[in-house]
Amino acid sequence: MRTPAYAAPAARARLGPFTIDRREPGPHDVLIDIRYCGVCHSDIHQVRDEWGDAAFPMVPGHEIAGTVSRVGSAVTHWKVGDTVGVGVFVDSCRRCEACVAGEEPYCEGSVSWSYNSTEQDGRTPTYGGYSTRITVDEAYVLRMPAALPLERAAPLLCAGITTYSPLRHFGVQAGDPIAVVGLGGLGHVAVRLAKAMGAHVTVLSHSPRKRDDALRLGADDFLVTVDATVFERNLKRFTFILDTVSVSHAYDPYIELVRRDGVMVLVGLPEPSLLGAPALVNARRRLAGSNVGGIRETQEMLDFCSQHGVMADVEVIPIQRINEAHDRAVANDVRYRFVIDNASLGDGLSGRGDARR
Ligand code: NAP
Ligand code: ZN
Ligand code: ZN
Repeated sequence: MRTPAYAAPAARARLGPFTIDRREPGPHDVLIDIRYCGVCHSDIHQVRDEWGDAAFPMVPGHEIAGTVSRVGSAVTHWKVGDTVGVGVFVDSCRRCEACVAGEEPYCEGSVSWSYNSTEQDGRTPTYGGYSTRITVDEAYVLRMPAALPLERAAPLLCAGITTYSPLRHFGVQAGDPIAVVGLGGLGHVAVRLAKAMGAHVTVLSHSPRKRDDALRLGADDFLVTVDATVFERNLKRFTFILDTVSVSHAYDPYIELVRRDGVMVLVGLPEPSLLGAPALVNARRRLAGSNVGGIRETQEMLDFCSQHGVMADVEVIPIQRINEAHDRAVANDVRYRFVIDNASLGDGLSGRGDARR
């Protein structure tokens, strides 16, 4: 099915109109008309090939929200008209320990990421949500919360689960003094989630102008990290720190803010990334990593957000402004998530490219 999309033709090139081929739904597939797609900083890292494994043409987008328009003959879970989401991955081996445990992003086989990846055949490229529709196996589809505006819920599919998962995994409890480093797409959702869990939340930001926003989002405290004395004055203050920063920075000063047996979790993926061991060793601290959560946990997160009214602050854009949005995100000029209105892709097909291989 020829499908309008926007693609990056090469590393660091501008994105432009492109046509991809979506498969006809098989027995277990769901065809989704995409209504909104969030713009994650990972999209930018990847189209700029900052992680070194980019394949082009690339159609980014892994915060995909839309409506089921067709279902395969064996699909039982979904029906036409359902409001659904697709996050960071569209398939996995389904057999390994991680998959069986519902931790698909940690699949020991191979994860089929939603773009810049391949289907389980290891060959067919995956294309993401900067497009008008997507065909996905029903087991990798999420139900979107009816209580939340869809454009504000779409970012939960990456920004939401990437921050919810470590908050849960590392056992953040009501009353815990925790910190979120970086008030961006991930960070602002993390503040809302952690507040909904009852934590005492401090934002550590290098942008003094974000103070009012942080407090409006529910943060209890806001510290500007350009003031180096902040680090001395807040030694061992937090039980848990979530680092969402997209730019290379020293971790040690932040690790020093963790209490004994506390944990700092990196979710931001700057490249290159700088690590130092002593700050971990000298208080038996743990520096951990965390990926997005599995399907079960993602659904749990969406239901939690629905219950607590947790959603993203978004700026909805037409796809034609995607390059500007990427540039603005890099310039730290987004409050706090760009979301593509996929209707702007139209149903006209561009003659410029054909991704069938
Ligand atoms: P974003 O909206 O661009 O936010 C990044 C934040 O980093 C900014 O808001 C800013 O916060 C801080 N920052 C930017 N430039 C900085 C600088 N020069 N020095 C210090 N801080 C700076 O990005 P995002 O979409 O939230 O993504 C954040 C990171 O998480 C990216 O690296 C992304 O690839 C990664 N990610 C990882 C996963 C995963 O599974 N682990 C999933 C999704 C995203 P302040 O202005 O408050 O300092
Ligand atoms: Zn993402
Ligand atoms: Zn697996």
